[in-house]
Amino acid sequence: MNAIPPQAPLRARADGISIRDVEMVYRRGTQVTNALSGCNLDIPAGSWVSLIGASGCGKSTLLRILSDIVQPTGGQALLGGLTPAEARAERRFALVSQSAVMLPWRKVLANVELGLAVARVPRAERRRRAEEAIEMVGLKGFEKAYPSELSGGMRQRAAIARALTLKPAYLFMDEPFGALDELLRDRLNFELLRILEETRATLLLVTHSISEAIILSDKVVVMSPRPGRITRQIDIDFGHARSSMIRDDPRFGRLEAEVRHALGHSMGG
Ligand code: ADP
Repeated sequence: MNAIPPQAPLRARADGISIRDVEMVYRRGTQVTNALSGCNLDIPAGSWVSLIGASGCGKSTLLRILSDIVQPTGGQALLGGLTPAEARAERRFALVSQSAVMLPWRKVLANVELGLAVARVPRAERRRRAEEAIEMVGLKGFEKAYPSELSGGMRQRAAIARALTLKPAYLFMDEPFGALDELLRDRLNFELLRILEETRATLLLVTHSISEAIILSDKVVVMSPRPGRITRQIDIDFGHARSSMIRDDPRFGRLEAEVRHALGHSMGG
């Protein structure tokens, strides 16, 4: 059921993301999974939001709905007033997932250009934007390397570069650093902050890490186990010009505890 008529005032709103009464029921044969129920969330343009919650609570599903990979069975998600399908047609968003899909027979530069190639951007423009993105993620000098010659962290940077070439207004990241060790993850978190400041993209990040959620967010959204619902929204008031120093701020530890407690409550703990 679509609770919102297409021309409701929502459409006239600013450029943020609106998730209204979103519900997702997967059916596979006789198996029915209530993945999401009554999800409502507003993400202002340019802000950074993390989704955190137990495995299977529907975080990826929400990202997949916004990325037009699946359609919700109820409710509506809008990106700057556009449906996910419309936003996809206008290349307003990019999705980075945990395992960066790189074509092994193509060099880094060609892999980063891939999104632009699919979008039929002319060759010279493709090259220029890919080189710019490669520089932004700190991979300059590795343009001619093959993916097998890169470390896991470098492959993730290449995946982020590929997403950035599309100059997305909305950047969706699904556990982008989940497969990396903690030190590297920490470094990439702060590199991502710099990139976000530069690009002004709206970020929606799925993560399992409480500290990563705090470092990379204006708001941490806590979800309950199946069917996933939004149970808490915790504001992170560090502003956007943040550095690794925020870890030493006494508020950081307090926020970590607050998110941990909210997760515990959402799981009935
Ligand atoms: P999370 O990202 O929080 O771990 P997911 O969104 O991946 O959760 O999954 C939520 C629930 O929906 C899980 O129980 C998962 O098994 C189920 N699910 C996800 N995708 C599908 C699918 N394509 N078909 C059937 N069930 C699915």
